[in-house]
Amino acid sequence: MKKIITVLSLALVCLSGCGKQANELVVGTNATFPPFEYMGGTGGDEVKGFDIDIARQIAKDAGKTLRVENMNFDALIVALNSGKIDMIAAGMTITPEREKTVSFSTPYYEATQVVITRKDDNRITQISDLKDKKIAVQLGTTGDVMAKDFSQQVVAFNSGFEALMELKNGRVDLVLFDSAPAAHHLAKNRQLKMQQMDFKPEYYGLAMAKGNDALVRQVDASLAKMQADGQLDTLLDKYMK
Ligand code: GLN
Repeated sequence: MKKIITVLSLALVCLSGCGKQANELVVGTNATFPPFEYMGGTGGDEVKGFDIDIARQIAKDAGKTLRVENMNFDALIVALNSGKIDMIAAGMTITPEREKTVSFSTPYYEATQVVITRKDDNRITQISDLKDKKIAVQLGTTGDVMAKDFSQQVVAFNSGFEALMELKNGRVDLVLFDSAPAAHHLAKNRQLKMQQMDFKPEYYGLAMAKGNDALVRQVDASLAKMQADGQLDTLLDKYMK
């Protein structure tokens, strides 16, 4: 009987933090956000990117191996707070709203929202032009939150790529998206253009469970080291061209 109970309780532990090994750092991401995270490698089944390289170095500094869990962006905080993952590395903007439920590292990248429209559309040139337009965004992002300040007509997708398809197909007027992934996608989308407007800067941070101060300190120490020894700049050169 005792044995059965032990096996059952082990199974329950597994359900709540399944397969998590002590020597692993489990990092959650949404690999639709190039150059920060995207599917690549020879088989196209490997998660790669700026955030992943940073996470790998953090794991290494902690004497752990990195395991990446790919999921929808709006599922990341839930996964973190249920113990499924240890950290989020997903180009996630540090916001007061998110700080109520997670702890962020020091910022490691400055971004901003940009406005993407069809190239031949000259109606949208300043922030006031966003009012009441049809806007596509990625679900649960800062762009999603911001779009709702301008318009009631906001459609949200699980990736920025899908939002851009909606724009290309003429079903929305614009997409609000983070600057670096927008530039990355636009390099391959000649029908679209991107405009910087006077939006506030956003700072990306790595997110950890609230109260996991030991991990936050470790992550901040790794980031400071990567800043000091030039590794962050090397990664910026590698991914942000
Ligand atoms: N920086 C944006 C946010 O935090 C978008 C991040 C993303 O789509 N991966 O909401």
